[in-house]
Amino acid sequence: MRKKIVAGNWKMNNTLQEGLALTFRIIDLLKENPADHVKVIVAPPFTSLHPICELINKEGVIHLAAQDCHQEKSGAFTGEVSSDMLFDLGVKYVIVGHSERRHYFNETDALVLAKAEAALDVGLRPIMCFGETQEQRSRGEHFDAVKKQLENSLLKINPADIAHVVIAYEPVWAIGTGQNATPQQAQEMHAFIRSTVAGKFGKNAADDILIIYGGSCNSKNSKELFSQPDIDGGLIGGASLKADEFVQIVRSA
Ligand code: PEP
Repeated sequence: MRKKIVAGNWKMNNTLQEGLALTFRIIDLLKENPADHVKVIVAPPFTSLHPICELINKEGVIHLAAQDCHQEKSGAFTGEVSSDMLFDLGVKYVIVGHSERRHYFNETDALVLAKAEAALDVGLRPIMCFGETQEQRSRGEHFDAVKKQLENSLLKINPADIAHVVIAYEPVWAIGTGQNATPQQAQEMHAFIRSTVAGKFGKNAADDILIIYGGSCNSKNSKELFSQPDIDGGLIGGASLKADEFVQIVRSA
């Protein structure tokens, strides 16, 4: 049976002190009342990764992700951070292809693939994000849009590495809007993604791969979303910034 993942993407929020306080509180709540059936991950900004990693290493209970990485190992790329550097810190996961990076930083499917491969090369698990825009959904093109993203990136991953990839289905129209996909809309897309994975990597790989949902997920809608057969947890933005709310979402998985 697949273990659930609930990951909090803090985006560009929280100073170091705020991030440490939030992490402490999440760990405390999970120690008081463990949720061992769920892998809990937080993705702070780069500036907080090292101290939060030290805290996590001391306390256990949760895991650490970065929000992005560069596709090259090192070099003249001012302002960038490589997967090697993240792994060296103790980071275990990295989000790649988030729709905000695709939109604001013009990240293409090819770049998302290169970043995922850079992560896998050093032993980081990429959380690869996919999702259609509102326009694509209203034109009835949401499956085609996601299929194209998958074909251009996920399906080109080395089959030996696919077990280390986590997929996040994040419809762009649901991110930060308060308008989550219905459990039925999310389930049908997750099932579609899983069958696409099966077509390329085989049934066992598809049965094992984790596909999490993101987009205005909160403690009120998470239980129904996470109880769908192909939804293996969530990537949580806004609702991950409050420890109590985030841990309630974890408990609903
Ligand atoms: C996200 O940024 O990955 C996300 C899902 O955001 P939100 O939960 O705020 O919609």
